Amino acid sequence: MFADSGPANNQIYHRVENGSSVASGMSRPDHGAGGGLLPLRYLSLLGIAIGVVLFLLTSYTDPGTVNAENVSQYIAAYPYDNMIYTERECSTCKILKPARSKHCSICDRCVARFDHHCGWMNNCIGEKNTRYFMAFLLWHFFLCLYGTVALGLILAGRLKELKVVYILTVYYGIENSFRSLTPHAVQWLLGAYNTQILLMVFLSIVSLLVGGFFGYHANLCRTNTTTNETFKWQDYISWQRKIKEAKASAAALKASINGMSSESKPPESKWKAFFRRSPLEEAETVVKNNMYDKGIIHNIWEIITPLSTRRSFSQTKSKAS
Ligand SMILES: [Zn+2]
Ligand SMILES: [Zn+2]
Repeated sequence: MFADSGPANNQIYHRVENGSSVASGMSRPDHGAGGGLLPLRYLSLLGIAIGVVLFLLTSYTDPGTVNAENVSQYIAAYPYDNMIYTERECSTCKILKPARSKHCSICDRCVARFDHHCGWMNNCIGEKNTRYFMAFLLWHFFLCLYGTVALGLILAGRLKELKVVYILTVYYGIENSFRSLTPHAVQWLLGAYNTQILLMVFLSIVSLLVGGFFGYHANLCRTNTTTNETFKWQDYISWQRKIKEAKASAAALKASINGMSSESKPPESKWKAFFRRSPLEEAETVVKNNMYDKGIIHNIWEIITPLSTRRSFSQTKSKAS
């Protein structure tokens, strides 16, 4: 399903890339700006080339496939927390599932530190390629932002160059104020540069979306959590809460039965009983205890240099074998 959507996604991707190149291509020095902007054109081509390289790295490199050879090393690198991860075998791969890994049904393999299967990239985002994915998002956020700002500056330059503001004030007989001129200037721009305006709006929307998506994932990286684990923690917390609630209500029932049988106890004051926390309220205090969170510096370093690329990881192999 995702394999089929690959070429279409690639086309959209190249269109966005072209959008940025149009934005930068418009800055060519034919508007009398002189030859000083020429290096900027090559810089923007370099910007697009970096974007393509990051796309290829995210899309085509190994996200951290778990196989019979490296499974023991992955288990050593990611110990089970016995909360959201317990020792289990993958029913498809017939190997132990290291903590934080997941079997991707689309790629048909177990992926270490599985985040999600990305349909746009047609690849899993896992232990080894989260760094490329994050770099891809950040780079394209800046590229789209650059496209928006560059187009805005170019259009503002054209307004100034063609003395549009002066012509509009004379033509409509209006005062030279921002409030009265803006609708006319926008109308003129929409007529003369509709493609560029459309592109500017498109790039600003894409930069907002990509920026938001990057922010969400940056927060996950900061706390050493994956998208997959956020769902697992939600399930775990609600399940634990239910168990605690069941235990608390069983204890409360037992206490009331005991109270009924032994009438000798002095009655509890009404005020005291009012302020006493309900046993169900006490059951609410189930917190996320992420043992993989080792502090912001370590967490980010783990994204930049995945555990499986470190020397300690390969040394575990010699010990295991
Ligand atoms: Zn598997
Ligand atoms: Zn996958």
